[in-house]
Amino acid sequence: MRIAMIGTGYVGLVSGVCFSDFGHDVVCVDKDPNKITRLENGEVPIYEPGLDDLMNKNVEAGRLRFTGSLEKALDGADAVFIAVGTPTRRGDGHADLSYVMAAAEEIARLASDYIVVVTKSTVPVGTNRKVRETIAAANPDLDFDVASNPEFLREGAAIDDFMRPDRVVVGVESERAGTVMSEVYRPLFLRDFPIVTTDLESAEMIKYAANAFLAAKITFVNEIAALCERVGADVKEVSKGIGLDGRIGNKFLHAGPGYGGSCFPKDTRALARTGQEFGVPMQITEAVIKVNDETKRRMVEKLVDLCDGSFNGKTVAVLGVTFKPNTDDMRDAPSLTVVPAMVGGGAKVRVVDPQGKREGEHLLPGVTWCEDPYEAAEQADLIVVLTEWNQFRALDLGRLKDTMRTPRMADLRNIYTAKDAEQAGFLAYDSVGRVPMS
Ligand code: NAD
Repeated sequence: MRIAMIGTGYVGLVSGVCFSDFGHDVVCVDKDPNKITRLENGEVPIYEPGLDDLMNKNVEAGRLRFTGSLEKALDGADAVFIAVGTPTRRGDGHADLSYVMAAAEEIARLASDYIVVVTKSTVPVGTNRKVRETIAAANPDLDFDVASNPEFLREGAAIDDFMRPDRVVVGVESERAGTVMSEVYRPLFLRDFPIVTTDLESAEMIKYAANAFLAAKITFVNEIAALCERVGADVKEVSKGIGLDGRIGNKFLHAGPGYGGSCFPKDTRALARTGQEFGVPMQITEAVIKVNDETKRRMVEKLVDLCDGSFNGKTVAVLGVTFKPNTDDMRDAPSLTVVPAMVGGGAKVRVVDPQGKREGEHLLPGVTWCEDPYEAAEQADLIVVLTEWNQFRALDLGRLKDTMRTPRMADLRNIYTAKDAEQAGFLAYDSVGRVPMS
């Protein structure tokens, strides 16, 4: 198969690289010339473990190329994937479809032979039909089909998720498009990974329903965590106890500072918006959005309490600012709520993150970037664990305590215990959903 991939972000680049590793001939296009230059030089513009090696292997094998020209990429392509961003539209929570529709118009202008136009971006129900109408209106002679193929990969484990998916979802309207999509995913089909072939609307809904469900699961446990703190229960024990029930499952039950990232916040907002538009309010999803916002604010209150009621004049070391470990992605990260609250309140904030600096430098003005946790903790009044990078999981708490002015810790990922902190000589320790050290 010959595949054109529009967009070389977290989804487009991983998908393009993995498709080329399946043996397909892939051309990735991006309108950002800087990204294309870096990719042509063998450099991956994002941080995703294992991606550079797999990319360079397939470039060397001659199966993977990069270009700024969609026209070149479309030459002889059997399928063109749209993997551009669909951020929240300013003002109303709806997904901003301008990048998707612009890509559709470009395809209409440049394609000449039969092609399957596949939307990989997360798009609200009805969008694939709009893509089809837009292309048909702009180029009535073009022979084409549309397909919906939402992506479920997780940043930080993206290659494995793409190569060994729980399922692949494909929405099609014609047998011809179905055949092309089967060929594209043939290596996964042969290895018995489930492929759900369905209609366009169901494929679009599956993606939003999955993300809203996962966001609800995390938010549910975060709300239970707030109650655990009040009643003296330990949310880690509670999560374990409920997660062993096969109907519930143990994934996505870790209490923390509230979900963030490039998908859950915008996709829950977009689903809520679709519900409003169709007169079927998504009440659970709306509650999830509200409780998640409150969870982030609750974290700020915890930190103020640990700072004796005021950030003013305090020095705080923050470990981790990306929305989760193993990614450089900062979109909607809890750090974007927590850190500005501390800086705004008059704290001096020192930040360490293995990959967050490039994005974080613009997004978190007024902080000092440090290379390691011990340097950040020097003469600090509080240390905050905000992202559970492996580097932060086995710190020498005694050494940290010795370097701090007033050794206090807010462990918002529950990677230590009050006992660990007490034994190391910390004066205060608080986490999420567990009784703080008094
Ligand atoms: P991204 O912002 O990282 O990448 C989008 C890329 O598309 C950018 O490089 C941009 O320059 C390029 N682009 C935009 N318009 C273009 C055009 N007309 N021609 C060529 N290039 C163009 O976005 P992402 O995180 O990869 O997300 C893409 C989509 O996938 C979104 O809809 C998102 O919701 C969905 N998704 C993301 C994830 C994730 O973990 N990031 C997971 C599943 C689904």
